[in-house]
Amino acid sequence: MLKGKVAVLTGSTSGIGLAAAHSLAKNNAHIVLHGLLDDAEGENLAADFSRTYGVDCIFDGADLRDPQAIDRFMDRVISRFGCIDILVNNAGIQYTEQIGAFPNDKWNDILAINLSAAFHTMQRAIPVMRDQNWGRIINMASVHGLVGSINKSAYCASKHGLVGLTKVAALENAGFGMTVNAICPGWVDTPLAGAQVERLAQQNGVSVNEAKKQLVGAKQPISEMVKPSDIGDFVVFLCTAGASRISGSALPIDGAWTAQ
Ligand code: NAD
Repeated sequence: MLKGKVAVLTGSTSGIGLAAAHSLAKNNAHIVLHGLLDDAEGENLAADFSRTYGVDCIFDGADLRDPQAIDRFMDRVISRFGCIDILVNNAGIQYTEQIGAFPNDKWNDILAINLSAAFHTMQRAIPVMRDQNWGRIINMASVHGLVGSINKSAYCASKHGLVGLTKVAALENAGFGMTVNAICPGWVDTPLAGAQVERLAQQNGVSVNEAKKQLVGAKQPISEMVKPSDIGDFVVFLCTAGASRISGSALPIDGAWTAQ
């Protein structure tokens, strides 16, 4: 379905980004994997993708806290493939603490990785997509782009910002064959959520499974975690012709969390 398209996914060495890369590669897109892995591991992962799916796949380890590193990353992609068809701004980090005690360096890192990095990659990808008259940008926001939760000031600020950035990019690029959307997942079973589950298990002296039930059940009426592959399938759907009029939307996959 996506044969010949080039998909760039930030933070695709783990969790949701890795699942989305598998879903896109299954549909024959060439893949740019990215994340904080050492080069040898990243290149092995890329070679596995090429072998498994018969697509072209490269890895880049740019640190998204550094705008110049993002520029070098995007230069490399554009000169290697000559195009960018699908951009999934997925990389993200979390840190939980009340505002009064929230460390400044964590605030800066979360804003840089979860929000500013998407601005910098879009600055480079949008002119390429406009020239092609086709492009799909998918920003991995969160339910925390739509609602707040205690102890998540930086995360909620970054994800609300990402939803706003998505809307502006969708408006600026309507009429260029492009769509720009945000996906807003609830709890997804990945290392990022796992760290919060483990912390709760320790705090409450319960098993990891019990902590998972407590954490998810507190927010989601459908009390199972979302699977990373469900989000991968949704990313693919947003790249199909059937989704070509969905743009500027913040789309929850959240077990009815934000319906309340
Ligand atoms: P994860 O921890 O499994 O993966 C994060 C990815 O980001 C990794 O590939 C990591 O290498 C990369 N990354 C982190 N810091 C980086 C940096 N400085 N430079 C470059 N890459 C960096 O996380 P995940 O749960 O798969 O989350 C993916 C996205 O989905 C994030 O934006 C997250 O906020 C969002 N999200 C997750 C959940 C959840 O419950 N897991 C819910 C809603 C939204």
